[in-house]
Amino acid sequence: MILVIGGAGYIGSHMVLALQDAGHEVLVFDNLSRGFSDAVGSAPLVVGDLRNASHLDTLFATYRIRLVMHFAALAYVGESVTAPELYYQNNVVGALNLLVAMRRHGVDKLVFSSTCATYGEPDAVPISEAHPQRPINPYGRTKLMMEQALADYATAYGNQSISLRYFNAAGADALGRVGERHDPETHLIPLVLAEALRLQNGGNPADTALQVFGNDFDTADGSCVRDYIHVTDLCQAHLLAAQRLLSGQSQGAEFYNLANGAGFSVIEVIETCRQVTGQPIHFKMKPRRAGDPAVLIGDASRAHAVLGWKPAIGDMHDIIQSAWAWMQRMPT
Ligand code: UDP
Repeated sequence: MILVIGGAGYIGSHMVLALQDAGHEVLVFDNLSRGFSDAVGSAPLVVGDLRNASHLDTLFATYRIRLVMHFAALAYVGESVTAPELYYQNNVVGALNLLVAMRRHGVDKLVFSSTCATYGEPDAVPISEAHPQRPINPYGRTKLMMEQALADYATAYGNQSISLRYFNAAGADALGRVGERHDPETHLIPLVLAEALRLQNGGNPADTALQVFGNDFDTADGSCVRDYIHVTDLCQAHLLAAQRLLSGQSQGAEFYNLANGAGFSVIEVIETCRQVTGQPIHFKMKPRRAGDPAVLIGDASRAHAVLGWKPAIGDMHDIIQSAWAWMQRMPT
């Protein structure tokens, strides 16, 4: 059985479906602090918290786990700056508790959700795994600390892990079973589409609450450029990573970027949302958000070469179309 920690969250809930669709038996562990119990579908859900070691001991003593996927981290850059304790407790203490429990119960295979935020302000783009890791916020630091712990565990104890450094996850399940649902929502695409939905429901375009953070970056239109990768493509990479771990091909702690290799500006994303939704989306220009690098574009050639992964949904229109279909049916 594969344990998905954080399976009630955005990427985790898509992963549960991808694993089930591929014929795996899945168990979800989640504290439901940010996730939704109805997002785990037919998978059994154990409600528990990584910060409580006894929850983990009971979990591993009760179920026969072959491999763990860990998605249960807090992931808001801004919040990590104002509430670092929450981030170190959840993302570091919680994840270290997981490593202890795995070792105690003889489980040595882990797929770990990491992030391009471990790189910080890039020297150049596209960013490959060889780029120095110099995170500029507590969120990125917590993820880097765990990558380093995984490398040390591999050296000392022979643990096998694959850390996947996501660029900007976006989109929703093609069958509309799950999608992006954060509370509070801070991500660009769902906020733009929420504005489109408000307009579709008769809202006045002038009353928009949508904000664009910065138009003075060193980019073509002045807004930030990001590399958006479809959540289903992320899940396919996790399946390949799991296969690599289960077949004994991995070599200790491995690290891969997951990205499309193409950048879209905030303004371009909004324009594509206008095209997809047919709504005249307006926005307010605001100052830069703290900690936003101008351009983040990933080089995923290592994942292509070693994992055999190739993203299937590179078109921004398709990514937004899937998110829009979900937005219109999302439970409130
Ligand atoms: N952004 C924006 N307005 C918003 C939310 C985000 O202009 O309401 C910008 C943000 O500054 C960044 C990009 O959109 O340049 C993507 O932000 P998001 O929070 O979606 O992802 P992040 O890059 O922080 O992981």
